[in-house]
Amino acid sequence: MKILSGKAVSKHLRENFKAEVAELSAAKGRPPGLAVVLVGDDPASQVYVSHKIKACAQVGVRSFEHRKPSELSAAELKQLIEQLNQDPQVDGILVQLPLPSHLHQEEVLSWISPLKDADCLTAENLGLLWTGRARTRPCTPAGVMEILKYYDIDPSGMRAAVVGRSQIVGKPMSLMLLEADATVTTCHSRTKNLREILLQSDLVVAAAGKALLFGKEDFKKGAVVIDVGIHRGEEGLYGDVRFDELEDHAFAATPVPGGVGPMTVTMLLANTIALYKHHMS
Ligand code: NDP
Repeated sequence: MKILSGKAVSKHLRENFKAEVAELSAAKGRPPGLAVVLVGDDPASQVYVSHKIKACAQVGVRSFEHRKPSELSAAELKQLIEQLNQDPQVDGILVQLPLPSHLHQEEVLSWISPLKDADCLTAENLGLLWTGRARTRPCTPAGVMEILKYYDIDPSGMRAAVVGRSQIVGKPMSLMLLEADATVTTCHSRTKNLREILLQSDLVVAAAGKALLFGKEDFKKGAVVIDVGIHRGEEGLYGDVRFDELEDHAFAATPVPGGVGPMTVTMLLANTIALYKHHMS
């Protein structure tokens, strides 16, 4: 079985971004800028934000960190986002999710200018994606597509199944595979005969968010298996898939950790650079 290393793909892409950012910064007089807003002290979010800030530094993107207490009011957050929308040094804005419960996620995302929407979460950018005119792309599914590209796995003509229909992973994943000419089935918690569908699929993206849910018996021999799930256990990170069972069964699969995870941050950099180019053109 071929191991699809998102870590390797990320390294390759980040080296390219670093060279591109150095060249663009010299030509345009400033580097791309990403503002990262973190409200509250959720430990997982703290880790994700640190990874994002570190990745920016690695490729020469300037980051602006805004860590705010969990009591921050909606009005104060709106004011901050509006200020960032106006800031000429800031090309991308990322509000780390989840937000504390008193802040309404959809409302907060609607305050971000679509021209600075680094995570591709605003209705305008999702609409552009849907109509084939993407300005940016949701980071996790975009990362999956980059992994497939790097390893020369062309979804065209494949039967693909996506398990999950969330706004940030499942739905855009199905759309991107469709764009790549796969025949896509989107599965979810109400799907009947899930295993039957998976066993007919050449490519499966598991994004159910259930630790170790799928194993060898769920996949057709020779399938490509992409595991988006991330679960923290006592011995480290797990995915939705029992990866160890896939050796001698799948054609290729992503491990956890080191698979899709690192790609999400890498595609955030890709989106920030794309927005910067748009602003500077
Ligand atoms: P959500 O909980 O928002 O969505 C999960 C989806 O899976 C839902 O559509 C749900 O169906 C479906 N589902 C749940 N259980 C089953 C089941 N037993 N069979 C079939 N479908 C099922 O999660 P996210 O999309 O936000 O994230 C999914 C996973 O990916 C999580 O583990 C998350 O941690 C991880 N993740 C990883 C990222 C990365 O960088 N690698 C980035 C983002 C997420 P229904 O709609 O009917 O409820």
